[in-house]
Amino acid sequence: MPRPILATIDRQHLRHNLARVRQHTGDAKLWAVVKADAYGHGIERVFDALRGADGFALLDLAEAERVRALGWRGPILLLEGCFEPRDLELCSRLGLWHTVHCTEQIEMLAAHKTQQPQRVFLKMNSGMNRLGFAPERYRAAWSRLQALPQVDDICLSTHFSDADGPRGIAEQLARFEQVTADLPGERSLSNSAASLRHGPALQSLSDWVRPGIALYGSAPDFAASDAGRWDLRPAMSLRARVIATQSLAPGATVGYGSTFVAERPMRIAVVACGYADGYPRHAPTGTPVLVDGQRSRLLGRVSMDMLTVDLSELPAAGMGSEVTLWGQAAAGAVLPIDEVAAAAGTVGYELMCALARRVPVQTVDGDSAAALASAAP
Ligand SMILES: *Cc1c(COP(=O)(O)O)cnc(C)c1O
Repeated sequence: MPRPILATIDRQHLRHNLARVRQHTGDAKLWAVVKADAYGHGIERVFDALRGADGFALLDLAEAERVRALGWRGPILLLEGCFEPRDLELCSRLGLWHTVHCTEQIEMLAAHKTQQPQRVFLKMNSGMNRLGFAPERYRAAWSRLQALPQVDDICLSTHFSDADGPRGIAEQLARFEQVTADLPGERSLSNSAASLRHGPALQSLSDWVRPGIALYGSAPDFAASDAGRWDLRPAMSLRARVIATQSLAPGATVGYGSTFVAERPMRIAVVACGYADGYPRHAPTGTPVLVDGQRSRLLGRVSMDMLTVDLSELPAAGMGSEVTLWGQAAAGAVLPIDEVAAAAGTVGYELMCALARRVPVQTVDGDSAAALASAAP
């Protein structure tokens, strides 16, 4: 019998989330961002549900090849562009669009031999100071690209650092507009947070939007809002079963380091999920879990293969009970990944991306009662 842990990827929820994001982005064309193996969900698993997108954006060239291998003939965008000259050959061969964020990439393009001019996304560093040309250098880069026979079409792009927070996008947006107002070409500015929170302000600058996290059902701006507020549904659920129970006397401790001490008699469950499955080791006592769909809490330290949860308020739960670490329980209750992430001091993105290779994954279509191996005797 396989170890009783299972991640499910719900295609129906992915489709639902894509439709919700579309509601906020009007007529904009939409890149489904599938970098990091579709945020840990698996490109091949999400592809079908997201093929209603207008393109797929990612940054690993091997992932671009995988999307083409799935039969996608539409646009694919490399979000970080090319890393070395031969990447441009792959762009030519696979018809990839690519970001140009630095002078070295322009030099590579200028030296590239191709019959087929390429589409590029020229990125401005409007304040995030990660990738892109500084505003004062942006127009020179644009003119240079414009003059290259290797370049067909230039989309103007930037990325916001605070679309999810109180600082907002105004400053970066002003910088971008100031420099690009009279340049021709399409525009692409919005990630999930900008798409959901700043849609109206960005409408005229959103020929292409680039949502990632919202498609997977996590709120880009948790805890200011949550997945419910945006009507997003969890694409990934991680569930495991109880493989042992223990009764604790007052003063008894739980797990490595004895960090949890029972103050009264308690019943606890040992669950077949640990940090080697991708559950965050830093999740503290009190981190929410669902046991048979009912809320409970993590106790003590997470170990490599197991974690422990409180059954004191759940007398009916025991051996074989289903524990939802995040996402949707078989019976339908939802534990947002964002809540678990917040308790562990991180973000939903990181938890999804960290789902470990050893966890079996099943793709489902709205049927959350997927076959999690039964640990019951
Ligand atoms: C990852 C990424 C996105 C998607 O961001 P989300 O917050 O997941 O929506 C958009 N644009 C760029 C350039 C990215 O790197």
